[in-house]
Amino acid sequence: MKRFFKDYDSINQFSLSLEYHQDKVQCVHCLKNDQFVSHGIIYKQRSSAFAEKVGKRLFCSNRSRRKGCGRTYQIYIENEVPSFRYGAFQLFVFIAALLANVHICEAYYQATGQFESRNAWRWLKKLNFKLSDYRSFLKVRVDIHSSRLTSRCNSLRHLLPTFSRLFTPGNNGCVNYQVSQQQPFF
Ligand SMILES: [Zn+2]
Repeated sequence: MKRFFKDYDSINQFSLSLEYHQDKVQCVHCLKNDQFVSHGIIYKQRSSAFAEKVGKRLFCSNRSRRKGCGRTYQIYIENEVPSFRYGAFQLFVFIAALLANVHICEAYYQATGQFESRNAWRWLKKLNFKLSDYRSFLKVRVDIHSSRLTSRCNSLRHLLPTFSRLFTPGNNGCVNYQVSQQQPFF
C-alpha cells in the first residue's frame, strides 16, 4: 500500500482516482483493492492559527453496496512523520546537529526551539529502536569501530555512523526512507 506522496496535490489526485490506481492500494485486512473511497483530510496544527494538510484517509468501504471491510488507512505527504508532533525537517535538523557533534539537548533546541531534555532523549531512544531498519535500508554494513564519528554517549556511538550515510548534506534521510520503504521513519 502506497503511504507517502510528494505533496498534498499528489495525494489529492491519487485519492480522487482510486479506480485507476488499484495496483497501488490493497487492503491488508480483506486484500481487496477496488473498494477504497476517499475519506477526509488529515490536518496538523502547526500553530494556533495554521493547520497544514498533511494527508488523507482512505476507507475500505462497506457502505452503499461496497464490499470492503470498513478499515481506514492514512496516506501522507513525504515530509510528515505519522504520530509525531514534528516533521521530517525537524528530524533532519536534529540529526545534522548530532552529526556536527552538538550536544543532544542543544540539537533538540535547534530542531524545535524548545528546551526539553527529556524529549531529546526520547527521540534518541526511538531512533535507536529503529537502527537495524535504517541499516538494512542502507544495505551496507556500518562498522562503528572504524568510524571517525565518536561520542561519549553509547547510543550515539551506534547511531552516528549510520546517520552519516543516511543524512548527507542536502539529503533528508528521513524523507528518503519514508518514500523508498513506504514506512514511517519512526
Ligand atoms: Zn478491507
